[in-house]
Amino acid sequence: MRLHYDLHSHSIASDGTLSPVELVTAAHAAGVDVLALTDHDTLDGLVEATQTARTLGLQLVPGVEISVSWQSQTIHVLALGIDPGCKLLQAGLAGLRDFRHWRAGEIGRRLSRAGIGGSYEGACALATGQCVGRTHFARFLVENGHARSVREVFKRFLVKNKPGYVSGQWASLEAALEWIHAAGGIAVIAHPARYGMTTSKLRRLIAEFRAGGGAGMEVVSGSHSREHNHAMALLCRNEKLLASCGSDYHGPQNPWVKLGQLPALPEGCQPVWDSDHWPLQ
Ligand code: AMP
Ligand code: MN
Ligand code: MN
Ligand code: MN
Repeated sequence: MRLHYDLHSHSIASDGTLSPVELVTAAHAAGVDVLALTDHDTLDGLVEATQTARTLGLQLVPGVEISVSWQSQTIHVLALGIDPGCKLLQAGLAGLRDFRHWRAGEIGRRLSRAGIGGSYEGACALATGQCVGRTHFARFLVENGHARSVREVFKRFLVKNKPGYVSGQWASLEAALEWIHAAGGIAVIAHPARYGMTTSKLRRLIAEFRAGGGAGMEVVSGSHSREHNHAMALLCRNEKLLASCGSDYHGPQNPWVKLGQLPALPEGCQPVWDSDHWPLQ
């Protein structure tokens, strides 16, 4: 029997809107057999998610989506099958969350100068977990009538050359890979088609990623278009990386992304879960 894998999802521990219990319950109802919870820069939801998964008979892959700065760009690296008790990983992620808190203050100050007050407090109030991010600012701005959608807030306020933009100072790729491997996990480049890189730049990223022991890339992603999935399948096969698939689910407010409703990995891609590297059986 073919199992249904969804190896990328978020809860209220970062910028998702479902609690870990609600997320795992929804994944189970959607027919997911193996779910990875991969919140941004925090392991906080994993205990609750693991307990719920055990009750429902679903396999929960403990994960995290690590923010990385690479060649003046932010990229995301998924860690799958990590030991949440790993001190090196915990300390690394704590440093990233410190940066998040400083950045949140800075975004708040910049938006104030642009005439939007109270956004720091508003974003922190919406961030119920340890991880405050741009999505919380975006939701606050929508709730307060500054834009019609989260997507519009990003476009008008939170990306490069816009008033609330602060550049990322995240983990180096090398450090993130060290943490992941110290925690016994497998490293996967998240939604590679979303970075706007040329294929040759993506190949340079993959070469560095592989040199640090990175093993996989997302081929099928809820953050990709169908064309992206096909282009990434080609790259994945050529580069001989393992292939992963994940919805990047953030909650029911984005009805165009569904848990576990992903197309199958294209022919010739070796799934991460079928490899010797896969940390879970
Ligand atoms: P942060 O890690 O706080 O910088 O925020 C990154 C998160 O913001 C991503 O994981 C997405 O959930 C969300 N995001 C990024 N770009 C956009 C966008 N253009 N529209 C909507 N959400 C976005
Ligand atoms: Mn997110
Ligand atoms: Mn991401
Ligand atoms: Mn994500």
